Amino acid sequence: ENIVEIHNLQKSFDNGKITALNGINLEIKRGEFVSIIGPSGSGKSTLLNMIGALDKADTGSIVVSGNDLIQKKDLSEFRSREIGFIFQLHNLIPNLSVLENVEIPMYEKNMSSSQMRKRALELLEYVGLSDKLKRKPTELSGGERQRVAIARALANEPSIILADEPTGSLDSKTGAMILNRLKDLHEKENVTLIMVTHDMDVASLADRTIRVLDGKIQN
Ligand code: ADP
Ligand code: ADP
Repeated sequence: ENIVEIHNLQKSFDNGKITALNGINLEIKRGEFVSIIGPSGSGKSTLLNMIGALDKADTGSIVVSGNDLIQKKDLSEFRSREIGFIFQLHNLIPNLSVLENVEIPMYEKNMSSSQMRKRALELLEYVGLSDKLKRKPTELSGGERQRVAIARALANEPSIILADEPTGSLDSKTGAMILNRLKDLHEKENVTLIMVTHDMDVASLADRTIRVLDGKIQN
């Protein structure tokens, strides 16, 4: 079963002056761990943004978890139900604590506050941050923030996790810990993991590596 099906996807910026994606064809199976590599500016982030419905394609088709993202109207509902984002900017809310940040995605669900708290505590234990629950994001290191982002990305039990350079700014020990957590999820929970990286060692952990160049997938 393909969880992602993309055909001839095109995306340009600046009224067509910049072609970011130039005819992408891609199929990803449910439960697969795929890494996306390629030089800076080749279209990797744009591709990830399309899969996560953060931006709309110009032409072509993209179906994710059975949702036609070209036709679909309520994309925010799709995102919160299906996708966990682990992006460099983290999107952590600065004036909320670590614990509260992890609870946020669960407000979309029909959960009591004690259920939300319980799950957030479990997730933060899973990423090794049980001792930082009350901290604000600004009071954390880059690696700790990245781990909060992972815990938050998991809160909704998404079917797909999109990670953009998840180890980018981390020291190798913290990076390895993050990768182990992600690989664990993929192996034990059958989460589909799609990860952009420039690091070949990191990319090689995936079941399959996709190379993007000039907005196209190289075979
Ligand atoms: P990568 O992630 O591989 O570095 P991107 O997907 O970020 O590449 O970018 C692909 C191309 O699209 C680049 O030329 C980039 O400058 C351009 N681009 C990406 N996002 C935008 C945007 N919001 N506005 C204009 N150009 C963009
Ligand atoms: P780039 O790698 O091209 O610099 P990012 O990957 O950091 O860009 O983010 C791409 C866009 O997606 C940004 O505008 C960011 O604010 C947005 N974004 C990231 N995570 C989420 C999320 N969980 N929900 C909504 N938007 C998000």
